[in-house]
Amino acid sequence: MDEMLTGEAYPLVSRASRPEGSRIELAEGITVGGREIVLIAGPCAVEGEAQLLATARHVAAAGAHLLRGGAFKPRSSPYAFQGLGGEGLALLERARAETGLPIVSEVLDETSVEQVAEVADVIQIGSRNMGNGALLRRVARTGKPVLLKRGMAATVEELLLAAEYVLVEGNSNVLLCERGIRGFDGATRNVFDLAAIPLLKELSHLPVVADPSHGTGRRDLVPAMARAAVAAGADALLIEVHPDPEAALSDGAQSLTFDAFTALVGELHAVAEAVGRALAPAGRAVP
Ligand code: PEP
Ligand code: MN
Repeated sequence: MDEMLTGEAYPLVSRASRPEGSRIELAEGITVGGREIVLIAGPCAVEGEAQLLATARHVAAAGAHLLRGGAFKPRSSPYAFQGLGGEGLALLERARAETGLPIVSEVLDETSVEQVAEVADVIQIGSRNMGNGALLRRVARTGKPVLLKRGMAATVEELLLAAEYVLVEGNSNVLLCERGIRGFDGATRNVFDLAAIPLLKELSHLPVVADPSHGTGRRDLVPAMARAAVAAGADALLIEVHPDPEAALSDGAQSLTFDAFTALVGELHAVAEAVGRALAPAGRAVP
C-alpha cells in the first residue's frame, strides 16, 4: 500500500514523475488531459455500414470528438457476434472520412495489432486484456495512443502497473479508463468505481477516461454516471450509442439512443462549467 501511494512500483506512470499532468494529442487538434473534456462515442461493435455511418454522423453533430466502435469484439461466448474484423475497420475508415472523427478501436491479440493500428487513431486495450503484458508492449511499440481499460477484477494499482508496461516501451500516450469492476449485485452489470477517477488523477499524471456504459450496463443509469464522472474529474468519457439499441448485436442494454446522447451532451456542458472545465469544442473540420 505504501509503495502504491508513493508510486515506486510504477515510476513512469506516477504523478510524481510529472506533477503538472500529461496532455496527450489523440489526433490533430484533439488533446486530452487539459481543461477541456473529450467525448468518445459510438456503438459497442461495428455492425454494418448503415449502423456505423448513421451513428458517426449523429455523434459528430451532437458534439463528440472521437468515434468508437469494435471491429474485433471480446465476447464472453464464442457463439456471440465476434465483430466484422477487417471489414469493420474499413467501415471505421469510411466513417472517419465522412465525419472527420478520429477512431478508437480495440485490439484483441498480438496477431492483429498492425491491422488495427493502420486504421485506429487510438488503440483500445479491453478489460479482458489489461494484464496481458506481451500485448501491451506490442501495442506500445505502434506509437499510437492507448486507451487502457481497467480489468473487471483489477485493482487500481494493477491498472497503473499495466500502464507502466506501455510507458516502459517508450510510449507515454496512455489513457486510463475506469469501466466498472465486478461486484456481487446483479442490479448493475458492474460496480462503477467513481472514486477511482480522482484517485487515478492523484496517483498518476495520465488522463482518465470514464466509461459509464460498461460501468453500469444500463442506459437509464448512464447519463447520471456520466455527469458524476465529469464532476469527479474525468478528462474524457466513453459512451456507447446505437441507432436502435434493442436490435444491437452487443451491449444494447447500455447503449444510448441518438436523442439520449444529444440530451446528455447538453447536460455535460453545465456540469463541466460547474467544475471549472469545458467540453472540447465540437465541429472538427470535415476533410
Ligand atoms: C467495449 O468497450 O465495448 C468493451 C468490450 O469494453 P470492456 O473491455 O471494458 O468490457
Ligand atoms: Mn461494449
